[in-house]
Amino acid sequence: MKETMEFQTESKELLSLMINSIYSNQEIFLRELISNASDAIDKYRYLSMSSEGKYPLREGEIRLEFDKKQRTITISDNGIGMSKEDLINHLGTIAKSGSKDFVSKLKEAKEKQDLNIIGQFGVGFYSAFMVASEVEVLTKTVDSEAYLFSSNGESSFTIEEAKKEEVGTTITLHLKKKTKETDYDRYLNEYELKNLVKKYSDYVHYPIKMKVTKTKKENDKDVEYTEDETLNSMTPLWKKNKRDVTDKELNEFYKSKFNDYEDPLISLFVKVDGAITYDALLFIPAHAPYNLYSDSFEKGLSLYSKGVFIKDKCAELVPDYLKFVKGLVDSPDFNLNISREILQQSPMMKKISENIEKKIISKLEEVKKDDFDKYLKFWESFGEIIKYGIYSSYGFNKEKLQNLLVFHSLKHEDKYISLETYKSEMQKDQKYIYYVSGESVEAIKLLPQIEKYRKEDIDVLLFDKKIDEFTIMMMREFDKVEFKLISDESASELSKEEQEKVDELTTNNKRLIDTLKEELKDKVSDVVISSKLVDSPLCLSTKDGMSLEMEKTLQEEALENKEDIKATKILELNPNHPLFESLSAIQNNDEMVKEYASLLYDEAMLLEGREISDKAEFIKKLNSLLIKASK
Ligand code: ADP
Repeated sequence: MKETMEFQTESKELLSLMINSIYSNQEIFLRELISNASDAIDKYRYLSMSSEGKYPLREGEIRLEFDKKQRTITISDNGIGMSKEDLINHLGTIAKSGSKDFVSKLKEAKEKQDLNIIGQFGVGFYSAFMVASEVEVLTKTVDSEAYLFSSNGESSFTIEEAKKEEVGTTITLHLKKKTKETDYDRYLNEYELKNLVKKYSDYVHYPIKMKVTKTKKENDKDVEYTEDETLNSMTPLWKKNKRDVTDKELNEFYKSKFNDYEDPLISLFVKVDGAITYDALLFIPAHAPYNLYSDSFEKGLSLYSKGVFIKDKCAELVPDYLKFVKGLVDSPDFNLNISREILQQSPMMKKISENIEKKIISKLEEVKKDDFDKYLKFWESFGEIIKYGIYSSYGFNKEKLQNLLVFHSLKHEDKYISLETYKSEMQKDQKYIYYVSGESVEAIKLLPQIEKYRKEDIDVLLFDKKIDEFTIMMMREFDKVEFKLISDESASELSKEEQEKVDELTTNNKRLIDTLKEELKDKVSDVVISSKLVDSPLCLSTKDGMSLEMEKTLQEEALENKEDIKATKILELNPNHPLFESLSAIQNNDEMVKEYASLLYDEAMLLEGREISDKAEFIKKLNSLLIKASK
């Protein structure tokens, strides 16, 4: 006897939205139905373990078929099946609160024409109605007869007694007719179905079988035949024991899943069993993707639940400063039907992401310790992002990330050193971690200020990336040692003796210094006798932490109000240089000193690797000097 029943109100709403949707990601219906099938087999297997006899043990299997003529797709499982009551309660109503929530969201979205929302939810059994005009569910449980549920997804469904030998469920989808927007016939294709299974259901832990057409040669003719093929690879790599997975397998998996041509630099297995349970497989690529620094780059990990794919590029799972990490997280605690909003707010998500963050950072620290060359390869590709992580958080992430930092240094030029190493190699009375920045390591090594440190064998960090100095400014100190820019006026610590010498020279050259100061008052805040220089005649130092390099960067960035950004500069003269002697000798000739002033400043700018602002003026003055000298 065939009975007709009405769908529950919420179901009707959901169905109507589903049927009328022209959402482009309809293909997820297959994932949803396969995942239901897999759950049903799980339930059957659970009962066969717990209640002997009644549920004879058998191999779980999901079968996929399609019929081009009839335009049907069939998904069968040998799971627990449904009784008549189950059909009414499970397929005729929406029991889950999540789905009810979804209906209201979907309605809103529909009003706003924002159909993308469907893809962010799993929509369960009803998703079949996105592609089918009629759905039949033939099912049998151990305790009951077989029933056939049938519906066109409008307002009602029918249930009637039917014939089926095996316990389990067979769902037949009668595909909708082709429309202008959608060609539903694309699913009546072996290749398409195989791809969908690979994409969404590869790690479902029961075989998904389909009869596929193959050809063989017989009497020199191609003969077609069909053969069962298992479409999914079943055991997720990350569910295996780490020991049972070879490096090659892992590398191949990474390359195919994340479309990379190169093996990953670092891979990491994570298994967590506790308040939250999850497995994760994480990779650090060997090279930066081309768009890492552009807005088009999407960070995130793939999310699975029990081997079933939920979502790609789940951004909540990794912080920005680890955005280069690729991988996936699989947790049975995530529900397939989880919405994006719920995902984002989920405390579980937050915990997992914090956990993953810790694991990655400690893995990187470990590599840094055990295989420094490998670490440097990582650093060359992604170091900037780590530094940016400290800078952009105003130092908030300092504690987490500071042990990952490495820099070039005066003593370890071509290698890098960590801050820890720098600290351990500091001289006994050294108070600061010294740094200086410039265009390149080569350019920095030519800076006048560095001479003294070289002579005194004090190491200096050489910052050749723009972000370096900004990062350090945010950190202020490392392990209680302050950073100090060597070209900052406060960097020189003079002994009493040295100070007295400087004071004496200053007094003796007061007229020279005053004239220069007056003449350069728009450019420098002071002119002083230097104690920093060894071979160079002069240099420019700065005050209050802003270096010349930083001034340059900021000026480049803030194109509009360029003039506002200025480092406070101090012109330092090397009293041990022959140039100083000459200057000192002519100090009473104010006119001459005035003429030299801007030349001296420009020379200092050039020594610092900067451009001089008025080149024509510089050349004019230089030539006039050369002409005078030859007379
Ligand atoms: P969900 O699977 O998220 O619970 P669905 O709408 O997809 O939501 O399915 C509703 C219910 O119908 C399932 O919870 C399950 O009890 C039942 N069901 C669906 N498909 C099957 C199947 N292939 N075998 C047995 N029961 C099923």
